[in-house]
Amino acid sequence: MHDTPLSEIPRIVLAGPRNAGKSSLLNLLLGREAALVSASAGTTADPVTRKMELFPLGPVALTDTAGLEDTGDLGALRMEKTRQAVAGADLILLVTPGDLPPGVSEREILGIAQKSAKPCLVVRTFADRPVHPEKAVWTEEYSCADVDNLSGAGKGRLFELLESFGSRLSPEPTPLEGLIGPGDLVVLVTPIDVAAPKGRLILPQVETLRDALDKDAAALVVKDRELYSFYQSLPAPPRLVVTDSQVFSKVAADIPGTQALTSFSLLFARKKGELKDFVQGMEALSRAPKGARILVAEGCSHHRQAEDIGTVKIPRLFRQMVHSDVTFSFSRTLPSEDELRGYYAVIHCGACMLKRTKMLNRLDAIRRAGVHVTNYGLFLGWANGLFPRALEPFPEYFP
Ligand code: SF4
Repeated sequence: MHDTPLSEIPRIVLAGPRNAGKSSLLNLLLGREAALVSASAGTTADPVTRKMELFPLGPVALTDTAGLEDTGDLGALRMEKTRQAVAGADLILLVTPGDLPPGVSEREILGIAQKSAKPCLVVRTFADRPVHPEKAVWTEEYSCADVDNLSGAGKGRLFELLESFGSRLSPEPTPLEGLIGPGDLVVLVTPIDVAAPKGRLILPQVETLRDALDKDAAALVVKDRELYSFYQSLPAPPRLVVTDSQVFSKVAADIPGTQALTSFSLLFARKKGELKDFVQGMEALSRAPKGARILVAEGCSHHRQAEDIGTVKIPRLFRQMVHSDVTFSFSRTLPSEDELRGYYAVIHCGACMLKRTKMLNRLDAIRRAGVHVTNYGLFLGWANGLFPRALEPFPEYFP
């Protein structure tokens, strides 16, 4: 369980007012003291995440958050972190003192759950006291467990409810989902150039390799330089060739035109986001009007190289292939919807470090702002003239 990356497992976020018993509930669920518990309000400063095995779901990540009525500058920052954690949740556990009437922060959390259609389970704490009549009415539409954190009473009911939510915590599709099966061979082309990290493969390559093994298939990992000779020596064509987008053209030239070929970026565009939106966004981007503002958005603070894809290659290719009357901006967080409206399109990175839910939230915000969106893999594939070929392996485009 501890080897599963946090970005791959369902995230259950405990949110609620200060002193509702979120940290002690986390400890109760984990069966150990993972979070600091105190009777004074505001003990949890930043979100605390712990993994646990939850039958029959498997590994889940439990995140304890700061209460939503924190005060001062630091308090505002903590509340923002809490809101971000709630927005990235697969399941919200609204932790609310059962003996008190509903407050502003609890209404806000339920509002987020309703707006984003996220599943929400209500835990009324302090179950040793009578439920406040207003709280009883307010929570009656929700799946609800009454729990006494001190004695553990009600914990069994809470676990039953958590298990019943299992099917709603849809896992991300794996990189090779539906593309290969047992006994197949997949060729993974991984250039080792100045941009490659020293001594290791990057996460999308490792995940795809592992997925091939999980699917009882075999994988041949090869650099673009050696692809031609290794491919020629294969007794039969592989089921699929997956390549880094940046060597798309060379790879396509080195293998037969009938060979199924795609890129790691497209696999992860499908895994993390909506491939269809990205394809439509790419079409719109190729017709961008003069004076368009384009945002390049990334999902983590990776070290930028001299020939960085987002800040150097994509803007240069766009200016060469579409027109140069364009302004590019760069961001590692998604701007507010108001700011987004000032852009014609967003080009997003492959989001390998982001959980699918978080990426889908980003896409929702971009959609609501009426802005086109595509991603690096689609853009580089388009720039290298590989469409529609790079999309052919995906059944939703070529059933
Ligand atoms: S694809 Fe995005 S999330 Fe992944 S390493 Fe690059 S910038 Fe970070």
